Amino acid sequence: MFDIIRKSPANWQVPPNLLDYDALCRSFDWASARRAMAGLPGGGLNIAHEAVSRHVVEGRGGRIALRHLGRDGAVSEVSFAMLDEAASRFANVLESLGVARGEAVFSLSGRLPAFYSAAVGTLKRGAVFCPLFSAFGPEPIRARLEIGRGVCLVTTRMLFQCKVAPILDALPGLRVVLLIDGEAGDERGQVRALPRLMDAAAARYSAAATSPEDHALMHFTSGTTGKPKGAVLVHDAVVAQSATARYALDLHEGDIFWCTADPGWVTGMSYGVIAPLVCGVTSIVDEMEFDAERWYAIIENHKVAVWYTAPTAIRMLMKVGAEVAGKHDLRSLRFLASVGEPLNPEAVVWSQRTFGRPFHDNWWQTETGGIMIANFAALPVKPGSMGRPLPGIEAAIVERTPRGIRVVEQPDVDGELALKAGWPSMFRGYLGEDERYRKCFADGWYLTGDLARRDRDGYYWFVGRSDDVIKTAGHLVGPFEVESALMEHPAVAEAAVIGKPDEVAGNTIKAFVALKAGHEASPALERDLMAHARRRLGPAVAPREIAFRDNLPKTRSGKIMRRLLRARELGLPEGDISTLESDEKK
Ligand code: ATP
Ligand code: MG
Repeated sequence: MFDIIRKSPANWQVPPNLLDYDALCRSFDWASARRAMAGLPGGGLNIAHEAVSRHVVEGRGGRIALRHLGRDGAVSEVSFAMLDEAASRFANVLESLGVARGEAVFSLSGRLPAFYSAAVGTLKRGAVFCPLFSAFGPEPIRARLEIGRGVCLVTTRMLFQCKVAPILDALPGLRVVLLIDGEAGDERGQVRALPRLMDAAAARYSAAATSPEDHALMHFTSGTTGKPKGAVLVHDAVVAQSATARYALDLHEGDIFWCTADPGWVTGMSYGVIAPLVCGVTSIVDEMEFDAERWYAIIENHKVAVWYTAPTAIRMLMKVGAEVAGKHDLRSLRFLASVGEPLNPEAVVWSQRTFGRPFHDNWWQTETGGIMIANFAALPVKPGSMGRPLPGIEAAIVERTPRGIRVVEQPDVDGELALKAGWPSMFRGYLGEDERYRKCFADGWYLTGDLARRDRDGYYWFVGRSDDVIKTAGHLVGPFEVESALMEHPAVAEAAVIGKPDEVAGNTIKAFVALKAGHEASPALERDLMAHARRRLGPAVAPREIAFRDNLPKTRSGKIMRRLLRARELGLPEGDISTLESDEKK
């Protein structure tokens, strides 16, 4: 249905890092990738050293690490040397306040330069960093601090007042709160003004002698399928995050790179903080939220070369139309990538038409700590496919059996996506849920909970989360296939499908659809959409019901919450909605 997008070397401004996929897969091993790290002078591995201090030691301290675009329109730049110094001061602050190695430091802030020095400084100290999304309400913040045993929280005065002050008494383990913009008058009990402490702290700090297996980060999952889980990553994750950023995001030293994900999610930390710093690129840090016009202006004004975003944002850009993109000079863009949700083929083709290059979908999870399956700069893109496993990653389609798992060797079979355990950024536990962690593994494989299929060329195609897959009249239907078919209709901006229990069919399929501007919901449009779906999918798989919605419920990281649509449809309890985007606008 959709043509393969082939790449021509004649169009490469810069040759991609990964040119010969098969050869690299054969020669790649993690031990060599680990040797490419600087390592600590006295042995050991620390993410902060790889990401920042190394550049200073090797004479690149003057290069720009972050270009911060503030709410007030101000642009400020932070060099690697400046970030290294601020991180050192922060590490000294932690040490002086008695925050020990291995203890948990949380952050709750917008995308501010101080967030970056806190993140890198915490890792330098050898403490464990856990970023939270600043839009969370008090209860999700409390629950996460409790589960992750946070002893220190870095936040702003405003966020503290609205969200932390009310829960402080319920968090006896939280020994220190550092206010990024705090002043002497704010100090009370465990609440301290960070600027004063930073000024008083020494500007040098030798990174803690952490080993690759020491805990470094905690990230809570998006909560798309249920209560968010806390995943633990170790310092060794940097090996995978930097290698995958070079191969799957094609980062080259000196690039201007924009990862639009909030650091409250794993993408914003792995590919918004750690990997770009290790790769020596300049990251755009935009404090504001999505706005199509402004986003295009950022790409144009700051000459963004590599852009990493999510399907929700891409669909919103499609909704406002290609004409808005056409008003900007976007020729600086060299590589476009997307993650977080299935990327509908329609969006890949739109991108090729609008930007002259496709969005490259890639797949991973909080638990994998880094990109596992991707479309690469030099390789053909099959719209709708997530691409191929990264070098060093062994992926398979498996079937669960009573005694373990069976690897499905033949192509084009739907099954659970599994990864051979042992890559460096693999999570090392779920906070407080050991049994659940153990159950994710069988026969040496990590079972992802996502269903996919591999084609004859080794490309993986997302079918759906195992929780979202619908059994109807003897067929197993992945929501992605149905949603993508609906998206091909010119009136449809977004679609989500669920199964509704039915005595005869087991389940029937119901679709929820949001329309593009200029289209009105009507019985005629409903009939037209039904007919379109039946033509594309056949009567067994096409939705039996279609409901129009202005917006679909999403997590704050932009994922459609099908479980919520289903619960509401069936009158079931809504479950944990701590990550639900409150206004459901995005
Ligand atoms: P929870 O585990 O709490 O339900 P979540 O799985 O959405 O939340 P994340 O770890 O942020 O939390 O997201 C990973 C999931 O997102 C994957 O398991 C997959 O279902 C989906 N995903 C990520 N990238 C892609 C992609 N390129 N195509 C399809 N699905 C994707
Ligand atoms: Mg998950």
